[in-house]
Amino acid sequence: MKAAIINGPGNLEIVEKPVPKPGPEEILVKIKYCGICGSDLHAFKTGFLEPSITIGHEFSGVIESVGKGCKGWSAGDRVTGNNIISCGKCSFCFNSRDNLCREVRRLGITDHGTMAEYTLFPAKDLVKLSKEAPLEQLALTEPLSVALHAVNKVSFAGKDWILIIGAGTVGLILLSLLKQKGVENVIVFETNPYRQNTALKMGASAVIDPGQKNLDQEVTSLTSNRGLSLVFECAGLPETIQEACSQAAAGGKAVILSICYQPVEINFLSLVTQEIDIVSAFGKTGSEFTEAAGMIAEGLIDLFPLVTGIIPVDKIHEAFNHPASGSIKTLVQF
Ligand SMILES: [Zn+2]
Ligand SMILES: [Zn+2]
Repeated sequence: MKAAIINGPGNLEIVEKPVPKPGPEEILVKIKYCGICGSDLHAFKTGFLEPSITIGHEFSGVIESVGKGCKGWSAGDRVTGNNIISCGKCSFCFNSRDNLCREVRRLGITDHGTMAEYTLFPAKDLVKLSKEAPLEQLALTEPLSVALHAVNKVSFAGKDWILIIGAGTVGLILLSLLKQKGVENVIVFETNPYRQNTALKMGASAVIDPGQKNLDQEVTSLTSNRGLSLVFECAGLPETIQEACSQAAAGGKAVILSICYQPVEINFLSLVTQEIDIVSAFGKTGSEFTEAAGMIAEGLIDLFPLVTGIIPVDKIHEAFNHPASGSIKTLVQF
């Protein structure tokens, strides 16, 4: 079978691997779509993954065969799955915080992922979908579950003004999710014109290019001086995390869900004197993943505007080497 690996910085390869056989409680999934994630592009740039590991973790597919002990699963079932395989035994797992489990296997990072014709998945981490479920959009279950986890960490009211910094896949999904949950006013900070436009189409009240406007003035006038009760940071840069902390109004919260590899200098004086909380949100729990899959399958959220390209696997090099400036989510079709 064809599988994508990263063999050092800037070197993506499609290699031939044997189709794996499912062991007890394992399922062999034939991949239909696998999304290219920002973290895959980061791994491509830095080459930090083991070259033998198959990349990819945002997928949908169809069961090819099942191992022993997989009751209730059969060949032909449509599925997606949570790539974070937690231990199920530790205190984090027992307390529904399995995103913090210390014994995890991360498919596509530490173990073979889903950018391949087939993948092996533990049955307990798969979600079964209806026959009509839209497989293209279901490949976005993983980023939806990440957005859902961030939203679940805070409370808000429909009249609150909320800011999203960064309208990549997760930022735009958050926008969609907040609108779906009845939030009227969401402002988006984004520099890319295509993403700015998509954010407006998906219901943003205003989109501001942080490079071009006086942000404080803009926010004050848009919110009629009320300020932002919540800021979601989805860009992952030191300056955008600083911006998130400084944009939250007194008593508000800055939710950081991006991964930023550099240290960030924060002025705690203004945070403390205005009681602004920094809330961190990492990944998603298994139950949030299942909920996210259900939302897409039942048509409660429409993520199709985010799918900007569906490419065959032999075009994958181009997608990694020259991601189009308008691209949001590219799916590789197997
Ligand atoms: Zn991802
Ligand atoms: Zn655990």
